[in-house]
Amino acid sequence: MGRDRGAKTDRERARSRRFGGTCVGSAERISGVCDLLMKNDSPLTMGIVSAMGVATKGEPKVTDCLINATDMAANRDDSYVEELTKLEDKHVSTAKALLTDKAEYDAYIETFLSELNDLRSMFKAIYIAGCSTDAFGDFVVGHGELWTARLCAATIRCKGGKAIWIDARDILVVTPSEDGGVDVNYNLSNANLDKWYDENMQEGAVVMVTGFIARTPEGVPTTLKRNGSDYSATIFGALTQGKNITIWTDVDGVFSADPRRVKGARCLSSISYNEAWELAYFGANVLHPRTTLPAMKYNIPVTLRNYFNQDAPGTSIGMTCPLPAGANNIGKYETRDANGDLVKGIATIDDVCLINVEGTGMVGVPGTANAVFKSVKEAGCNVVMISQASSEHSICFAVRAHEADAAVNALNKTFEKAIAAGRISRIHALEDCSILAVVGQNMCQTPGVSAMLFESLAQAAVNVIAIAQGASEYNITVVVSKNDVNKALQAAHGRFYLSKTAISVGLVGPGLVGKTLLRQMKEQLETLQDEFQVELRTVAITGGRKMLLSDGTIDLDTWEEDYANSGAANMGEFTQHVLDSEAPNRIIVDCSASDEVASHYKEWLSKGLHVVTPNKKANSGPLAFYKELRSIQRNSYTHYFYEATVGAGLPIVSTARCLLDAGDKIKRIEGIFSGTLSYIFNTLEPGVAFSDIVAQAKEAGYTEPDPRDDLSGMDVARKVTILARECGLELELSDVPIQSLVPEPLRDVESVEEFMKELPKYDGDILKQQEAAAAAGEVLCFVGVVDVEAGTGSVELRRYPADHPFAQLKGSDNIISFTSRYYTDAGPLVVRGPGAGAEVTAGGVFGDILRVCAYLGAPS
Ligand code: ADP
Ligand code: ASP
Ligand code: MG
Repeated sequence: MGRDRGAKTDRERARSRRFGGTCVGSAERISGVCDLLMKNDSPLTMGIVSAMGVATKGEPKVTDCLINATDMAANRDDSYVEELTKLEDKHVSTAKALLTDKAEYDAYIETFLSELNDLRSMFKAIYIAGCSTDAFGDFVVGHGELWTARLCAATIRCKGGKAIWIDARDILVVTPSEDGGVDVNYNLSNANLDKWYDENMQEGAVVMVTGFIARTPEGVPTTLKRNGSDYSATIFGALTQGKNITIWTDVDGVFSADPRRVKGARCLSSISYNEAWELAYFGANVLHPRTTLPAMKYNIPVTLRNYFNQDAPGTSIGMTCPLPAGANNIGKYETRDANGDLVKGIATIDDVCLINVEGTGMVGVPGTANAVFKSVKEAGCNVVMISQASSEHSICFAVRAHEADAAVNALNKTFEKAIAAGRISRIHALEDCSILAVVGQNMCQTPGVSAMLFESLAQAAVNVIAIAQGASEYNITVVVSKNDVNKALQAAHGRFYLSKTAISVGLVGPGLVGKTLLRQMKEQLETLQDEFQVELRTVAITGGRKMLLSDGTIDLDTWEEDYANSGAANMGEFTQHVLDSEAPNRIIVDCSASDEVASHYKEWLSKGLHVVTPNKKANSGPLAFYKELRSIQRNSYTHYFYEATVGAGLPIVSTARCLLDAGDKIKRIEGIFSGTLSYIFNTLEPGVAFSDIVAQAKEAGYTEPDPRDDLSGMDVARKVTILARECGLELELSDVPIQSLVPEPLRDVESVEEFMKELPKYDGDILKQQEAAAAAGEVLCFVGVVDVEAGTGSVELRRYPADHPFAQLKGSDNIISFTSRYYTDAGPLVVRGPGAGAEVTAGGVFGDILRVCAYLGAPS
């Protein structure tokens, strides 16, 4: 074949290094690439390069510019000229910075400008004609690679190294394939490489190669299609039958999902050729779908590395993929193991259309599928996925969105007669779909993987439109609505890689309770993740005036500072942000005490957001609102928990629920529900004035700023209403008679100071009641009562025998007793403990958040 033995050996020891667009996006980066290539001690180093990408956001990407310019010219838009100017500026300034040798610079610029001028003339012609051709487009778009390959070779020479460059169109011969890609003609390409090698190779020179471009057997310039420089690298690796291939890009390796879209995506240490192929085919654009094929042919190891983080080992892609130990123990968390994961990655194709050919006339008729796919192929459409129900009643397949019309038209034509005769009932295109593919060689023969996938999608309320799994079992593919694809990706990824339950949290009201909750969550995040696979991501915090939103997760160490510097609050934006957040499940926690905030619950629940709150306003507000809220919540399969509305963290609401769910019948709930009033009456003793204790309590911060808010009994009445409704009573807050402890004449007094000043005048009222109670061996307690049997609720000052549990209370504790069918003779069920304060209230709210997680399937 015209090459001598020594040359062949060098070629077999060749190393192909491919550099993506961002790696050669600026002069500094190109310089670094050249240094890396020059360091190589292998006898033959090939540097396969892309066109210049971008180094800083907003700069032009060379391939995109060339494609844009072609489209503009063909559409008679003269702004193509600006695209060319951008290209000129970018390359001239880069060459100026790199080519320190004047002769090198002059030579480079002369060729570059002459090619650019040729392009200018061609664009002018296209502009006049108002149309372009594919062949012209392919010729134009390949210039970016020519310009970088030449520039790199010249730079190496300026650095004192030896370098030559290849226009890959002189070597690589490809033919178009039916799926819209290209097949390599290895015989012709090999012969071309031999010839080039013999005529041009210089010993010890780095060989710079243009990625992406090739030619047809007829000699017409073409490309390997977008992202094709990876494919070029493996083709050259195969042609030289080299030792290894490195693909340098801008991420640490192949990730379990696109790291731009899935925050917790993991970098994979190794994957098989097949897995890489499946991931790339189903949309992981880190690799061209065909990249692995040439490497696989000769079993050449490929490594994907991050040019911007050269310490990272990258992902190695090779033939085998060992089955992990214990792979059959699916259902636990084995998929999280660092190596040998069952599911390697999840990729999506965002824009597809699902075409369904339906009809009873297809059953048992041989050749229908053939006719369907033949006509789709002839229409030039590529079928991405096929699914056929075993009844043969329908064949359904997915094509890229832009090919859908052509496919449907072709099918209507092919089946014209069958449609007229009713054998085919319809050919239906479902638009705006996306494909999600879960890929992993080790899924093969492992039970339970698809169950995990579908369970995760169900929990995220994602509807699966179609399913396909090939016999190779390397991937499970599902079609979902385009609107759901992000949610589906997050849910599936979370299930296999992160935590069983990932949940976004939006917090309203970062006051004392809200703040404490965030601190408690911060302290538990790691334990929840490690032990229960629960991942709580706080994505939004809003108060009345300020609002902090984060595309990722808000850092709970620094949130207060970030919140202080955040923008203006807007409930619509807040809601949308939580809805758009990446986790498959979302929860809004309302730690405000606001009516206005509570008015949003219905909207939130109906949109699929779970709600957790210590805010009493919704559940003790108008009955009609409450009933509608519950009905929306049930119908939207969302969760609404409010344990901390009564007794802070004490299990009051959940106790009532437990009893009722277990078939018990609650007869009566009675309790001291107000920490403040509990404190006041526990401290009240003969000889001490009521007003003094109120003043003390106020001083100690046990009361609301206006103690009348506690003394009025309204707060207790709200709790009574909440519990009454929990027991099935249809009670309005106004139905609950309240014995207010605020003396009648002081109810309308303007200032708190004046109220406190006047209060001692009424000490006698309470004193009288207290003395009467004491004389009977009893004590006064301010209680709320739900009398389920009578269908009433009340809030009043009552007397209890000195040995009654209510009379034993200390400090500001709450105590609540449940009398029921089961808890009667042996005494009531009593819950007692601190029922107010930020820690315990936040604890109750946190408990509810975790309850949502448990309902969503977090392990217990
Ligand atoms: P290059 O210019 O080096 O070819 P690309 O932009 O074409 O780089 O491909 C790298 C990008 O692919 C990454 O920045 C990443 O956002 C995206 N990507 C998509 N899916 C994956 C995945 N599974 N693993 C890694 N990167 C992915
Ligand atoms: N420059 C080409 C593209 O942008 C090829 C590549 O970068 O891989 O598609
Ligand atoms: Mg690429």
